Amino acid sequence: MSDETLETDYLVVGAGAAGMAFADALLTHSDATLTIVDRRHAPGGHWIDAYPYVRLHQPSAFYGVSSMPLGQGVLDSTGTNTGYYELAGADEIRAYFADVMRRRFLSSGRVRYFPCSEYLGDDRFVSRYTQASWKVSVRRKVVDTTYVEGTVPATSPPPFEVADGVRCVPAGDVTRITERPERFVVIGAGKTALDTCVWLLEQNVPASSIRWIKPREAWWVNRRFQQPLALLPESYRGMAIQLEAMAQATSIEDLFARLEAEGFFLRVDPAVAPSMFRGAVISETEVDLLRQIEDVVRLGHVVRIERDEIVLDEGRVPTNDATVHIHCASRGLMRRPVRPIFEARQITVQPFLWGFVCYQFAMLGAIEALLESDEEKNRLCPPIAYWDVDRDYLRAFLATLANERARMAYPTVANWAKENRLNPFGGIGHHRDAPEVIDARERIKRYAAAAAGNLAQFIKTNAGL
Ligand SMILES: Cc1cc2nc3c(=O)[nH]c(=O)nc-3n(C[C@H](O)[C@H](O)[C@H](O)COP(=O)(O)OP(=O)(O)OC[C@H]3O[C@@H](n4cnc5c(N)ncnc54)[C@H](O)[C@@H]3O)c2cc1C
Repeated sequence: MSDETLETDYLVVGAGAAGMAFADALLTHSDATLTIVDRRHAPGGHWIDAYPYVRLHQPSAFYGVSSMPLGQGVLDSTGTNTGYYELAGADEIRAYFADVMRRRFLSSGRVRYFPCSEYLGDDRFVSRYTQASWKVSVRRKVVDTTYVEGTVPATSPPPFEVADGVRCVPAGDVTRITERPERFVVIGAGKTALDTCVWLLEQNVPASSIRWIKPREAWWVNRRFQQPLALLPESYRGMAIQLEAMAQATSIEDLFARLEAEGFFLRVDPAVAPSMFRGAVISETEVDLLRQIEDVVRLGHVVRIERDEIVLDEGRVPTNDATVHIHCASRGLMRRPVRPIFEARQITVQPFLWGFVCYQFAMLGAIEALLESDEEKNRLCPPIAYWDVDRDYLRAFLATLANERARMAYPTVANWAKENRLNPFGGIGHHRDAPEVIDARERIKRYAAAAAGNLAQFIKTNAGL
């Protein structure tokens, strides 16, 4: 069967948060036509397969696409997020992206959407369920949002062997087990493992029935400093705290110690030095809950689970048939060699700021539409790898400072960012006269240059950074 041909200005591969945020900005700031292709059956990317108890780790207020709000902008009054702005769960996020696709994209008449379709490269894609195939005549560019695509436990097998008869489930499936286990072993050190431990404790599973296998200890960002709307001044104070600490720190270790002392960074076990930094955000209430789990195994990664023991890099621990093992050990966000984001025929979506993905990927869409030359666009957005270890925070933060400075030369982009709903500091102008904002603003001005200088110096003098 021969390919059907299609014409479009942009071919966007991936209808996850990145593709959706990018496409939305491009629709707003240009009159381009877009074709969006995704192998999943609905927009939302990994959220389509997310575990049922997942929620955003950042407020809904600055997640999604620029042109449509997510959530009601209300404060939670129950649970571990009490006192902070709401965090959408997977159902809400899926419904949101479906709505964006239907009401905003398709009804514009400028977007064609092909779910259940595999992009093969070379401007071709095929249906996953029929013989249909398409060759796309792309007038402008292919937008590849899959270069740094991550993996989640629901769709990737555990990175360890599991012997026959062992009860081992991916994170979400723990909600579906029918035979009550005596013990739970949570395997992983990231956000999925953390959510799973918190969820089990919220179901009144005794902490003594949970074993947590953590290959690494992580730094977490305190959610207190990631708040929008009425609580935005506290987030702004968080920026001042970071810059002051960066300007005054005498070493990388000293920087993290200062930020922990200010409550900006959190760790679950104060006795263990964290080496992991994925930028995930948690509340102090969650930290308190997690500290109830005392059976923490730190023997490296799991290699194999046998019926009677778990084999790790650096030792073995017993297990049994009455234990359910929960796989929370996916790789997460992909780190690949960086490549230019803007090229003549292609845009390779990659992070270029520290922080939340929707804001920066929407900014790429706006930049594509608002600036002329690829050279200028690349100068504004030199890509960085996703953060994984504590020191990646320095490099990513430095990139953010550089981008803020570079944006000044492009008023259209600077104005785009100023009030954009995805910009965590977008609404700070509304609080400009609050005393805490005045104080934070002064500290930011005082310390920004020294912070940048110090970060650059730490990066230069620390081998391996
Ligand atoms: C549990 C969890 C919670 C998170 N919470 C937050 C948060 O609160 N805030 C935040 O900023 N980030 C968060 N993240 C990070 C998250 O990665 C981003 O929010 C975002 O959802 C990533 O979107 P994406 O489009 O880059 O990737 P994905 O969601 O992975 O989307 C990529 C899409 O590309 C499609 N695709 C890939 N290859 C092909 C192909 N060849 N043909 C067709 N389609 C293809 C895939 O099917 C997929 O739908 C979280 C991540 C996880 C795992």
